[in-house]
Amino acid sequence: MKIMKFGGTSVGTSERMRAVASLINTEEKKIVVLSAMSGTTNALIEISSALYAGDTREAGLRIEKLRSTYYDVVNGLYQKKETKNSGKSIVDAHFDYINGFINGAFTRTQEKAIVARGELLSTELFHLLLLEQKISCALIPALNFMRIDKYGEPDIYYIEENLRRELEKQSGLNIYLTQGFICRNAFGEIDNLKRGGSDYTASLIGAALNATEIQIWTDINGFHNNDPRFVEKTFPVRELSFDEAAELAYFGAKILHPSTINPARQKNIPVRLKNTMDPDDPGTIISQNYVPKDYKAVAAKDGITAIRIKSYRMLMAYGFLRKVFEIFEVYRTPIDMITTSEVSVSLTIDNPENLPQILKELNNLGHVEVEENQSIICIVGDFRPERSGSAPEIFEALNTLPIKMIAYGGSPYNLSILIDTKNKVRALQLLNEHLFPETNEN
Ligand code: ADP
Ligand code: ASP
Ligand code: MG
Repeated sequence: MKIMKFGGTSVGTSERMRAVASLINTEEKKIVVLSAMSGTTNALIEISSALYAGDTREAGLRIEKLRSTYYDVVNGLYQKKETKNSGKSIVDAHFDYINGFINGAFTRTQEKAIVARGELLSTELFHLLLLEQKISCALIPALNFMRIDKYGEPDIYYIEENLRRELEKQSGLNIYLTQGFICRNAFGEIDNLKRGGSDYTASLIGAALNATEIQIWTDINGFHNNDPRFVEKTFPVRELSFDEAAELAYFGAKILHPSTINPARQKNIPVRLKNTMDPDDPGTIISQNYVPKDYKAVAAKDGITAIRIKSYRMLMAYGFLRKVFEIFEVYRTPIDMITTSEVSVSLTIDNPENLPQILKELNNLGHVEVEENQSIICIVGDFRPERSGSAPEIFEALNTLPIKMIAYGGSPYNLSILIDTKNKVRALQLLNEHLFPETNEN
């Protein structure tokens, strides 16, 4: 069994959907995971924002605008009149549902139910396309098997049991189709795996079924050595280890949802990144195979808050760091980076939701300083402890920019640097020039 996940641009137009239909139409058994058509999730979030604001006129206009975009999709997607009619009914059912939220109080739960329409629409319309093309396929509702617990973590046991049951209901097919991103939460309500979460759906399904490969099909030729949105002359990295890819995804490489690698790594299932527009390109393979190279890739994560705690009580004391960490544990706030000196500790978080309470408690331990609008730059390369002399290029590259923190030695594959977000793009460009001289050749 293979998992093939197609992202928003891969199903972004009727032409792209037809291209996906021919890509998946092979004898091999597979689960196809689809995202919403590109732009839809953002549009649904905007509709929800208007509903929160009580601006029903604006919400209504946006709903009808999106509905008519989908009518165009339906017109371009199908050949036969009756299939077009069925497609239009699918579209109307979802947009009438959204319209039902126009009057009355609007809550987070309702927002999630609206945002889920994107993946429900794309999979139902795609399923209809396969039926029209006489390609046998079953649509398995993700809301029947994908579930998170009360901490927002996937409920692995539930997912495995229920996914297997859903597949057994329609055994003997080669193509099973399902929604990425959406799930139910511990209360049975519609929820999701956070933005970009369809990648995570694919790897959770892959791990649940012990798949042979998890393929993430997107709009670029695999994992690039740097962020192509900010840096020119990036190039695909053909091979990455699970550990390397996990660091890059966690520290901001948008091509993969930050948690995608974990389920695959646990079950040792290779993850292949492929380009839907260029299916013959080999893309990137992520596996347990580690090929050392001085520098492999760079990524950046924004929205970081740095916290510095200075306390003379830390001097020669044991248990001080435990007290600091306990505060973050109580507020379920993960720490990304940490460095210490004789009497101070600096750390970073990416979720400021509970920052006021955290700061209140940290103030009992010492003097606290906070700096927002920070970015972590993650450089993945060969930083194994027995090596010498591999990092100077990083500091040469960045010697014109203020560096706030450095984390080195935590992982043999990663060196992380904290900088002001306003310097991020420059830092990524400078690192590209210094660490990947091959990019300067033409
Ligand atoms: P999808 O809709 O298929 O999930 P995404 O937009 O989530 O696609 O991810 C693909 C995009 O990620 C690329 O188009 C590219 O702009 C961006 N990206 C950021 N960092 C990288 C990287 N290191 N390698 C490749 N793409 C990257
Ligand atoms: N449609 C969702 C999003 O835009 C999930 C995904 O694309 O992976 O975030
Ligand atoms: Mg994505």
